[in-house]
Amino acid sequence: MSVEYDFDVAIIGAGPAGIAAALTLARAGIETVVFERGQYPGAKNVSGAALYGPVLHKLIPNYWEDDKSFERYLTTKKITLLSESRSVTIDADLRNFNQVPYNGVTVIRPKFDRWLAEKAEEAGAMILPDTMVEDLVWNDKQIIGVKSGEEELKAKLVIIAEGANTLLVEKAKLMKEPKAKHYALAMKETYELSSNIIEERFHLDENEGVSNEILGYTKGIPGGGFYYTNKETVSFGLILNMDVLTKKKLEAPDVLEEFKSHSYIQKLLKDAKMIEYSAHIIPEGGFKHMPKLYGNGVLVAGDAAGMVLNAGLYIEGINFALESGIIAGESAIEIIKSGDYTKKSTKIYKEKLKGSFVYKDLKTFRRASHFLENEHMFTTAPDLVTVLFEKLLRNNGQPRKRIVMTAIWHVLRKTPLFALMKLLIGAVRSL
Ligand SMILES: Cc1cc2nc3c(=O)[nH]c(=O)nc-3n(C[C@H](O)[C@H](O)[C@H](O)COP(=O)(O)OP(=O)(O)OC[C@H]3O[C@@H](n4cnc5c(N)ncnc54)[C@H](O)[C@@H]3O)c2cc1C
Repeated sequence: MSVEYDFDVAIIGAGPAGIAAALTLARAGIETVVFERGQYPGAKNVSGAALYGPVLHKLIPNYWEDDKSFERYLTTKKITLLSESRSVTIDADLRNFNQVPYNGVTVIRPKFDRWLAEKAEEAGAMILPDTMVEDLVWNDKQIIGVKSGEEELKAKLVIIAEGANTLLVEKAKLMKEPKAKHYALAMKETYELSSNIIEERFHLDENEGVSNEILGYTKGIPGGGFYYTNKETVSFGLILNMDVLTKKKLEAPDVLEEFKSHSYIQKLLKDAKMIEYSAHIIPEGGFKHMPKLYGNGVLVAGDAAGMVLNAGLYIEGINFALESGIIAGESAIEIIKSGDYTKKSTKIYKEKLKGSFVYKDLKTFRRASHFLENEHMFTTAPDLVTVLFEKLLRNNGQPRKRIVMTAIWHVLRKTPLFALMKLLIGAVRSL
């Protein structure tokens, strides 16, 4: 059957992955439409968010010249371990990160996504907000379009960039039903604080920002907190492994409230007024649990393809979504030109991805998600380190013991050697 196409490419989702693909395609003169269920791109989107690396510069050269594109550039990174009434923080003040292209910037997703989508529209892509794609249109075994309500729109190629909730990836028969253990639940709160207070509290100069990843004090649930500074707000949140949360029969908001009651968090949020709360899921299955990335008439990018890197020190998803979107766009240009939209032709996307940091990083850290399910990382490790510091620093009027011996004795007394070895071997193998 010969098909009359309405567009060359239809993209589902105007998040970073969908828009990066749309911008790449529109610049090449390919007729592209993007469906977005939110009232505007970004309306429904939740992230911390720290956007790492030069990928945005690749997509929008010198993006930093437009102050709508980001909030603050990141010069300080803190990693904190929490236990009952204690915290230990590594505070990396990295002044070299204040040069363009920045190592990382903070963004506010509704603002950022909208700004990015405007660039795609300026390049010629059509964005249809308030339009939810409910199904795919098939011609035998080939996907040839999308359905929204009663409407059908035909396209030579469909790019699924629907984010972590993979209903259409499943409908495209590219993955089986997802499992809870491959997802984390993320809760995010936005707090208002003046720029002066943010800069004073964190020893920052104007436009500089801090990101703080926080481990421990989550009732033994694998996960962690984050705190990122924007211009006049801070993004604070907690990410929890969904499977363990359910198994322990705990409610996520209760874990969040207890986490927030820790004195370390109380000081971060002092005098700040909460103005927004949201929650979202994050794919955490990693490399081993990615869906098929291409099929007849279809490609999958960003969170929809499970492309999120969680290696403990950072969570990276936006840059992975942008890069995979760019590569999906570049591949789509070649696929459209070839006139063959079957798997034989769409497999080029996976081949191109294999050369990128997206695929390589996910592969390098393929064991990380399993390792980060180890509860000792979130209970024993923070406890061990914070109690050790208290011990080393406490002066109780007695002669001091040697520091290294105290540390070794403390660790061995507190942790079964087997658990410790398992943790260390796991860390070496996966991180
Ligand atoms: C609390 C939290 C904090 C995070 N922090 C960070 C961080 O600091 N740094 C980082 O790099 N990553 C972070 N991430 C991960 C990051 O948000 C994602 O990896 C990233 O948003 C993926 O982009 P995407 O375009 O693939 O998907 P999304 O951003 O989820 O976009 C998908 C889009 O598709 C739309 N959509 C979905 N289904 C349909 C449909 N059927 N029809 C039409 N439209 C549809 C949605 O409305 C949405 O706009 C965080 C995530 C969370 C939840």
